[in-house]
Amino acid sequence: MPQRPYIVGNWKMHGTRAMLSEARTIDRAAQRHMKVEVAIAPPYTLIHPVHREAEQIAVGAQDCHDQESGAYTGDISAAMIADAGGKFVILGHSERRDAHSEKDAKICAKADAALDAGLRIILCCGESEAVRDAGRAISHVKKQLNASLPDNIENAAERLTVAYEPIWAIGTGKTAGLDDIAEMHAEIRKLLVDRFGDETGPDIRILYGGSVKPENAGEILGLPEVGGALVGGASLTADSFMGIAMAAGDAVEA
Ligand code: PEP
Repeated sequence: MPQRPYIVGNWKMHGTRAMLSEARTIDRAAQRHMKVEVAIAPPYTLIHPVHREAEQIAVGAQDCHDQESGAYTGDISAAMIADAGGKFVILGHSERRDAHSEKDAKICAKADAALDAGLRIILCCGESEAVRDAGRAISHVKKQLNASLPDNIENAAERLTVAYEPIWAIGTGKTAGLDDIAEMHAEIRKLLVDRFGDETGPDIRILYGGSVKPENAGEILGLPEVGGALVGGASLTADSFMGIAMAAGDAVEA
């Protein structure tokens, strides 16, 4: 069954309790746009407060540790995220792959831990500008995704989302060309069908991320195999974030 477009806000390291009113506004607006599934991943410190405010949207985290507990100063486990009211976790974001040297195997271990804790996962992949210029974007992304995906995911269509985010488009105001997005999403779809079979593979949502805003969301979300968006900067205000959600709703109706 086709799923609703999934619009996920990644607040990154932005937001104190003063941002709760924005989360509340997003939640109230999401109640009026039920054709779209809306979620936000604030910093860890806001997961529980946003969870308490939210009636419609899901709240999640931007990373988790691969162990349940232990002597890991400064880290947060998937079970802790679930305990705080988190329903999902973003894994393998390029900012973590880069600044924290996260490799595919580590991301795969984190994905297993998150799924064990009952969280849904959003697994990110994407190529650098140098890789795209060298004509290796598709092979790079497929290799990265293949190595980051856990082998067995029960109910994968519900619990796994893939986010394709070209690194050079994140936070830069540049977006990938529509043909390039469509081509990459089609390749990711093939990989998901190979890994999860004809029944489940076609139903796993693939999000696009990279400078999505209300002005470009309609054309991106109207592409085949684009099941939603992972949004950074434009998710920080209810106006721009819900502008994207509304464009997603319009794109599925069109
Ligand atoms: C992101 O960080 O996942 C992202 C897509 O950021 P932005 O929308 O700001 O490019």
